[in-house]
Amino acid sequence: MIIKRIVVGELQTNCYIVADDECQEGIVIDPGNDGEEILRIIDELEINVKYILNTHGHADHIGANKVIKDGTDGKLLIHEDDLNMLTDNMENLSIFLDPDEPLLSPDADKLLKDGDTFQVKDMTFEVMHTPGHTRGGVVFKVGNTFFTGDTLFADSIGRTDFPGGSYNTLIKSIHRLTKLMNYDSTILPGHGPDTNFAKAKKNNPYLFGI
Ligand SMILES: [Zn+2]
Ligand SMILES: [Zn+2]
Repeated sequence: MIIKRIVVGELQTNCYIVADDECQEGIVIDPGNDGEEILRIIDELEINVKYILNTHGHADHIGANKVIKDGTDGKLLIHEDDLNMLTDNMENLSIFLDPDEPLLSPDADKLLKDGDTFQVKDMTFEVMHTPGHTRGGVVFKVGNTFFTGDTLFADSIGRTDFPGGSYNTLIKSIHRLTKLMNYDSTILPGHGPDTNFAKAKKNNPYLFGI
């Protein structure tokens, strides 16, 4: 498995390109901005993009959905509870981030729910619904690697003061999520550096005692 991280936009969102070792097929997670740069890397790696995945519907994670969808054959997937954020400027916060250019994402091709799995070559992606940062936030698990979006960061957790956020719900989601992890689990968050579960347990106060 090949994982390429691209830091995009003002909020420094981590966009991930994930492909099989031969770079035949891949996915893009959270193309939040800088679509042309993401497409350039997809081209360079010669990946056929099968899916465009959004961990949740905030503007900084969906901003380049359109560019990537127009430039690839990827199908756009988001959890059903965040669907309206794709096309609602208030819900996805883009009206506050950039009032002059409110955000337009294409509609989803398919809606995700907890427990869904999909296959990209030899990689099986599992969907875990982790509400709390938004109503429809998800984590994508492939092997022992977790793309945690804004649910879990290396040394913190996502904000819960936006519409649809709930601190108690997020903590519950994180408890459920970490039950699937072992010390070697790789955590690739929506912002900031990557980590593994062993390190996160030491450095992230929200994981103390878990
Ligand atoms: Zn967010
Ligand atoms: Zn974010």
